Order: sequence, then C-alpha cells, then structure tokens
Amino acid sequence: MKTLPPANPGASPAVWLGVMGGGQLGRMFVHAAQAMGYKVAVLEPAQDCPAGHAADHLLSAGYTDAAGLDELAAQCSAVTTEFENVPADSLARLATKTFVAPGAAAVSVAQDRIVEKRFFTECAQDSGVLPAPHQLIAQDADIDALPEQLFPGILKTVRMGYDGKGQVRVKSRDEARAAFAAMGGVACVLEKMLPLAYEISVLAVRGHDGASQVYPIAENVHRDGILFTTTVPGPNVAADTAARAQAAALVIIERLQYVGVLCIEFFVLQDGALVVNEMAPRPHNSGHYTIDACVTSQFAQQARAMARLPLGDVRQHSPAVMLNILGDVWFDGDTMIEPAWDQVLALPGANLHLYGKEEARPGRKMGHITFVAPTLAEAQQHMRAACAILRIPA
Ligand code: ATP
Ligand code: MG
Repeated sequence: MKTLPPANPGASPAVWLGVMGGGQLGRMFVHAAQAMGYKVAVLEPAQDCPAGHAADHLLSAGYTDAAGLDELAAQCSAVTTEFENVPADSLARLATKTFVAPGAAAVSVAQDRIVEKRFFTECAQDSGVLPAPHQLIAQDADIDALPEQLFPGILKTVRMGYDGKGQVRVKSRDEARAAFAAMGGVACVLEKMLPLAYEISVLAVRGHDGASQVYPIAENVHRDGILFTTTVPGPNVAADTAARAQAAALVIIERLQYVGVLCIEFFVLQDGALVVNEMAPRPHNSGHYTIDACVTSQFAQQARAMARLPLGDVRQHSPAVMLNILGDVWFDGDTMIEPAWDQVLALPGANLHLYGKEEARPGRKMGHITFVAPTLAEAQQHMRAACAILRIPA
C-alpha cells in the first residue's frame, strides 16, 4: 500500500486522515496530524466535542451511521479510532473503502475482557506473562461454581468498562451475587484481587511495514479508578521488570498484526511477578507525557502509522510526570472558581494541556499537565507544587 506523504500547500491536493470519536484523544491526534500537514476529519455525534473544535471537518453522525461512515471513508485516505468501544462493524465497513488502523479484529479483542484474557493467555506461551486468575460469570450458577481462591475479587463487566466504571470489589460469593444482580446480569468476569506493588503501562507502536517500537515504561497511580499521575521513568520499575514488560508488549502487538499505537497495562505484584491487565487499541492517557518528553509523541506516531510512513523515534529526552486535571479543580465546595493557571505555569517545565470542554464536572478529565525537568526529582517536586496550588490532595 502506498504511503501518504503530507501535501504541500498549493502543490497537490490535501491528504485527509479521519478519526472515529471526538474526545480529547481525538483532539490531540488532530493537533499532531495537522502539525505534519494533514487535514483531519472527525466523526462524532456530539456537536460540541474536544476533537471537533480542532478538526478541519466535523462529521456529525453516529458511530454506526452507514452514510456517515461512507462519507468519512470517501474523504479520508486512512481512518483511526480514539476510543476502544467504537463498534468493530463500523471499522470493518470503513475498511472496505479506506485504510483503517488499528483494524476491526484487533480492536474487537480489546473490547471483550474474556476474549482479551484468552488472547493474553495465548501470548504467555511466548511472553511468560499471564493475566490475573479469573472466571466468566454469565449467570448466577457460574458464581456458585467459582473456586474459593478467586475471593476477594473484582467483578468487571466484560464489555464497556473504563475509568473503573463497571467494576465492583467483592469479598465473598454473596457479595458477588449481589454485585452481578446490580449490574443487571450482563456478562462479567470475576478476577482475583491481586496484591499490587505498583502499576505500569507499555505504549507500543507498530507500523504498516511490521516494524515495532516500545516507549519507556510508564508508572501509573490511580485514584478512585481514574489515572492520577504517570511518571517516566517509573521510580519503582526495576530494569528486569521493564524488559519483561516491553518484551511481552512486543509479543502482543506482533501477534495482533496491529498497526498503530497500542497501550498495554500491567500489574507488578509485591513478589515482583508481572501480570497483564488490559489493553487499549489507541493512544492512552498514560502516554500523554510523550507529547512533551519524547522525540515523537504517541499521536504523531499514530499519524505516521496511518500514513504508512516510517515510525518516529520513541526516545525520551526528559524525565516527566503527567498530572491529570479533573473537573474538581474548578470547584471550591459548591462554588465554581478559575484554577490559578498563572501560578501553575510559573513552575519550571510545566506544560498545560486543556481539552476545551465547556463544563467542568467532578471526576471529568478536563486536561493534564506534564512536568519535564532535567531530573525526575525536580519534575516530581513541581508536580507536587502544582497539586498544592490546585488544592489537589498530593
Ligand atoms: P481504565 O480503562 O481506566 O484503565 P478499567 O475501568 O478498564 O480502567 P481496570 O484497568 O481493569 O479497569 O481496573 C482499574 C484499576 O483497578 C486498575 O488500574 C487497578 O488499580 C485496579 N485493579 C483492577 N483489577 C485488579 C486486580 N485483579 N487486582 C488488584 N487491583 C486491580
Ligand atoms: Mg485499566
């Protein structure tokens, strides 16, 4: 398949890249693709959306709207997705008319926790890294049959979970029954609760030519199920753990014959064991630091993969800490306030990214700040100072 070099103004027609979804990941993809000279079309039903504000064209259509999908495919030489729950059928339809990366088959593996865990288990033959012990819960009888060793556990919906939504921690079989009923009886997986030492993610990218790269390991801290900070290099990550996780990520991306950016989350247990949790078939919140701290950002990498261009350098040039900014910082009790960005941006190495969302709500991802510094200790210190300014409990 031909590469899609960005067009020179006036010399040749514009080259369009398309993205399914209008959220912040789409917006940062738009910025990166435009910086390379591409025009970007976004398909999203909502008129007011972060990616739509930045796109060259907002195609207002539902994710399964046949006419909308055909229009996107006709306009764009390549299409990607910015959220994993994009209907796989829609990607398949697009793929009959244009180049789609990642493909429907890879995305559908990530959309179903059971299929995903089965796939990870197959990959473990080569990587040695298994998912957490788990069982499918499709009906009440499955709960009766659960082995005792799976408790305490976490009941997760098989489909559509994100930011800790669709998850309940259960200590006993009775609690599992109640939680399963509360979820409306949709298919779930019960996972054994593991003793985590820390959490990491590996951002991998594979080009159309089959060349793969992995970024440095990111160490992630979650709060209330939502990513709080990403620190790279991870202060807890031992060299052999990093190497095992990167090798496992390469096995996974290769087996999927994936094209584009893929993020894989791992747990590191208190005894040092590595467990693979889940993957996101797209750029990821834990990869936002790459915009400010790496030679090529995850979003520029996605544009390169779509355009069948060579992948960029994944090298990190500065230690970095990424702090997510939730809607909470716009509130002082019930009163709405303007966060003190002037004070935050006076901190050395602070890079503010706001997503252009109209309404701040507690728990809603509104932006992030990446702190880069000559040393990790300085980046961490500036992150903590920003938390104090924004009244985020450090
Ligand atoms: P997201 O899409 O935002 O990454 P999610 O809702 O898909 O999240 P998971 O990543 O599966 O859910 O879980 C969210 C968090 O819950 C994990 O980052 C981890 O902190 C904790 N967690 C999940 N599964 C386990 C487990 N088996 N043992 C211990 N902790 C777990
Ligand atoms: Mg997760």
